[in-house]
Amino acid sequence: MHQVTAPSPFQTVTDAILLAAAVALLMGAVALVFGLPGQRTATLFGVNLCAVLAFQVFSGNSGIVSFGHTAFMAIGAYLSAWLTMPASMLRVTLPNLPSWLGGHELPVLVALAAVFVLGLGAALFSGVPVARLNGASASIATLGILIIVYSVLSAARDLTGGNRAFYGVPRATGFGLAAAFACGFVLLARLYRDSRWGLMLRAARDNEPAARACGIDPVRLRLGAWVLSGGMGAVAGALYGHMLGAFTPRDFQFDLAFGLVAMMIVGGMGTVTGAAGGVALIMALQEGLQRLETGFTLGPLQVPQVFGLPILGTSLVILLVLLLRPQGLFGDRELTLPARLRTRQAVGTEGMSRPAGGTRSLRLDAVTKAFAGLTALRNVSADIPPGRVTGLIGPNGAGKSTLVNAITGQLPLSSGQVTFGTERLDRLAPQDVARTGIARTFQNIRLFERLSTEENVTVAALAQGVPLSRARDRAAQELDHVGLAGMAERRAGSLPYGARRRLEIARALATDPAFLLLDEPAAGMNPEETADLARRLRSLPAARGAGLLLIDHDLPFVMSLCGRVIVLNRGEVIADGTPEAVQRDPGVIEAYLGTRASRGPTARQEATPPPPTEEMTHAPT
Ligand code: ADP
Ligand code: MG
Repeated sequence: MHQVTAPSPFQTVTDAILLAAAVALLMGAVALVFGLPGQRTATLFGVNLCAVLAFQVFSGNSGIVSFGHTAFMAIGAYLSAWLTMPASMLRVTLPNLPSWLGGHELPVLVALAAVFVLGLGAALFSGVPVARLNGASASIATLGILIIVYSVLSAARDLTGGNRAFYGVPRATGFGLAAAFACGFVLLARLYRDSRWGLMLRAARDNEPAARACGIDPVRLRLGAWVLSGGMGAVAGALYGHMLGAFTPRDFQFDLAFGLVAMMIVGGMGTVTGAAGGVALIMALQEGLQRLETGFTLGPLQVPQVFGLPILGTSLVILLVLLLRPQGLFGDRELTLPARLRTRQAVGTEGMSRPAGGTRSLRLDAVTKAFAGLTALRNVSADIPPGRVTGLIGPNGAGKSTLVNAITGQLPLSSGQVTFGTERLDRLAPQDVARTGIARTFQNIRLFERLSTEENVTVAALAQGVPLSRARDRAAQELDHVGLAGMAERRAGSLPYGARRRLEIARALATDPAFLLLDEPAAGMNPEETADLARRLRSLPAARGAGLLLIDHDLPFVMSLCGRVIVLNRGEVIADGTPEAVQRDPGVIEAYLGTRASRGPTARQEATPPPPTEEMTHAPT
């Protein structure tokens, strides 16, 4: 028997340490080689890296570009200044600051701990509305937060000095502190990225409907990432403030936000390696261009002084990267040990046998779904039993996919009820339906394209609350079952078509469903692949105790697998029975063959199937 293996749980820890060591090495080298200026550059690099990683923890994993994190930086900078400054100094710079707020002369590390906790709180408060949004509207909301915090800090003159410089802040951020925090933030960001929350959030980033269908709640995960990154941002801001020694609210506004976001995007925000690489690259570029700004000679060529060369050159590089490598220079790859040093461990097979299966049936009561101007489902009632394969067929446009979307909560019903056992499903969000034990695949495959094949399956188990190491084991086994073990570490986006279909089925099975809804799983497969799939599906109910609803418009395929077939046409159930009975049903024959004749001016356009495909010519006559 061959051995099934899963990635070792220590892999992420080793990789995180490797990256932190690389950062420490780079900072140390710059400080050693370039002396005092080098030390200053390395310190700035460390602080920038902390700030960029605060952005990356949220943006990289959720896919939402945030501009708002400099707001947390500003909050952190002022807080830490108040907490660490001597009362005598504060009386000079901020005479009206309430005495309970400042002048405690706390040690910097204690102040940073307080800043972290308060940053988490500020992020929790602001994150509730942001986490509900996605895409561009979420980005704009983060910009709104930045503007609000800036306005408040500028207006609160008693607390901040307004737009006058707030000076006398202890310059506590030296090379050592910056290096220590940079390495700590690298570890934190890297471990978070590969934690169960980071993985599930990245799955939702790649495909939100598919993530929800596995049981993932993207809003809660986005909020979690936002809160963590808010705490990190506040600490990064405090470090920045203690490096500057004097600042105004304007120092934390758009210029800083755009600069940090640019560093993150140039390297690649999807990875911690990319974010760190981006900081190094942009800083090196700016340093280099600054030296050339005053003019230089290149052989016989005399290049004159060019003011603003660093900004000009950096902007050009950013534009070029966005144009040529939108995923960032480092793409989706984290710095990791070479393949031969990476360890995979054998997956134990004991204790992996499935429970004896569900006893709940799926019941549809007069399910109706109306779209504007079209009723896609009309009074559909059916009782779909556990522990066997039930077929759902019907010509294109009959409403099959709409029915799956209605059962799984993707589409709200117009009327009617869906119950699973004793539980009403039709009021639940898709992720809550998934958690009752219903899994699905999509007619147009939806994978987590930027995750690896094994991560695609692992997150599905994670979403059901399985611990990470067991989820990895389960994923390895599911992949082995569908013959994808050899492609475990490939990015899902790079898989060939047949493998993508099989991966989607493996992912659905990894949720250990009591019921599985397969929407045209054989579409686009060649005959051998279809036969293989049929063999696998036939054994599923017995092997896994799962009920199966198999949807296809290929009659022979469905009929070879099912003891019972429901036929849908134009949103209505027109037959329900054994394959033999259904094949003889005149209404079914009419629906499958007669529609060609009925394609006239009176026929509803949306119910008209495309020209007969090969499957349809196999239909019973
Ligand atoms: P099937 O899966 O049986 O081929 P569908 O369920 O995809 O059919 O579609 C049934 C009908 O509902 C079609 O006429 C389709 O155009 C329509 N439809 C499906 N989804 C939507 C939607 N989101 N908005 C409007 N019409 C839709
Ligand atoms: Mg469909």
